[in-house]
Amino acid sequence: MRFETLAVHAGHWVDDETGAVTPSISLSTTFRRETDGTYPHGFIYSRTDNPNRTALESCLAALDGGEAAAAFASGQAATMSLFQALAPGDHVIAPNDAYYGTAKLLRDVFAAWGLEHSLVDMTDLVAVERALRPNTRLVWVESPSNPLLRITDIAAVAGLAHGAGAFVACDNTWATPALSRPIELGADFVMHATTKYLGGHSDVLGGALVARREGDALFERVRLLQRTGGAVAAPFDCWLVMRGVRTLPYRMRAQSAGAMAVATFLSTHPKVEAVHYPGLPTHAGHEIAVRQMSRFGGMLSLQVPGGREAAMGVAARCTLFTRATSLGGPESLIEHRASNEPPDTRTPQNLLRVSVGLEHPDDLIEDLDRALSGVAVA
Ligand SMILES: *Cc1c(COP(=O)(O)O)cnc(C)c1O
Repeated sequence: MRFETLAVHAGHWVDDETGAVTPSISLSTTFRRETDGTYPHGFIYSRTDNPNRTALESCLAALDGGEAAAAFASGQAATMSLFQALAPGDHVIAPNDAYYGTAKLLRDVFAAWGLEHSLVDMTDLVAVERALRPNTRLVWVESPSNPLLRITDIAAVAGLAHGAGAFVACDNTWATPALSRPIELGADFVMHATTKYLGGHSDVLGGALVARREGDALFERVRLLQRTGGAVAAPFDCWLVMRGVRTLPYRMRAQSAGAMAVATFLSTHPKVEAVHYPGLPTHAGHEIAVRQMSRFGGMLSLQVPGGREAAMGVAARCTLFTRATSLGGPESLIEHRASNEPPDTRTPQNLLRVSVGLEHPDDLIEDLDRALSGVAVA
């Protein structure tokens, strides 16, 4: 099946009892045993397995070309389960511009637990190779990255990591399986904040880990942590993500086209210092993006002359863009990213991150043009 067809059908079925075309939400926490003590439907207790979660997991595994998936209550819970599946004394390599929640977990939670980590420039393969140690168990990749939209060569990093006996996980939240499938490029695990494009409507928090191989010892531990730790996605949340996924390919197409139009407009605007969008031929990662993505996604960032105040001013003058963090919904968002990150952030103070929604791109361009017209150019 092609991706659009999978997005509509994977994990969905028509209910034989009622004929319902849309799955119902199974709120029951517990499931009946037969007189012989068996569970004929495979469900015992909702923390261990739930029909909506099982459906979502099979859907997400299919979309990313993996054998299995584990769904969690948030993207962070999914990331955390993979780190927890490692052992104290293991070493993790992650990008120096990783999603700040990922870096925060490594630094503020898992360092004390004995998990070692190095943050490197993932676009520099020599730096990745140098960071590999005998105890490196996991290389964490994120592409495009946040907020500079840097592109990592997933296949090349996977080659280096596997050569050193390490697993590779890719945070595929921004690209989604509609645009990039890291497992096909060599990754062993794909992580999603389903909160973003997969849910797609800014109304559900969730996460998932997709595994290349179901029986991997590391994924077995993730499963154990999911079922025993209990940071599982709730039935309604699973249902919302499944609903979102059905339109994912078409939303990603429209949001990529919108972001390309906005980035192209900004790239020649006199009040814009820099635009970061992998679809622009001038972007440093453009060639790799062309190879490993089918489109370039709905996220971009821009830098304006004049620093933090100028950037805040542009965000304040936007009327169509909502000033808010997060991404992937139908409404366009604009965010002064540095002020939502810790004080030691690497994010430039004059940077605005934009999540392009499903509005007409010309309306978005007009709104940005108006907001930028107030920027003083030195
Ligand atoms: C939002 C996000 C996360 C974390 O997901 P939550 O659902 O907020 O826990 C991780 N990685 C990326 C790239 C994200 O955008």
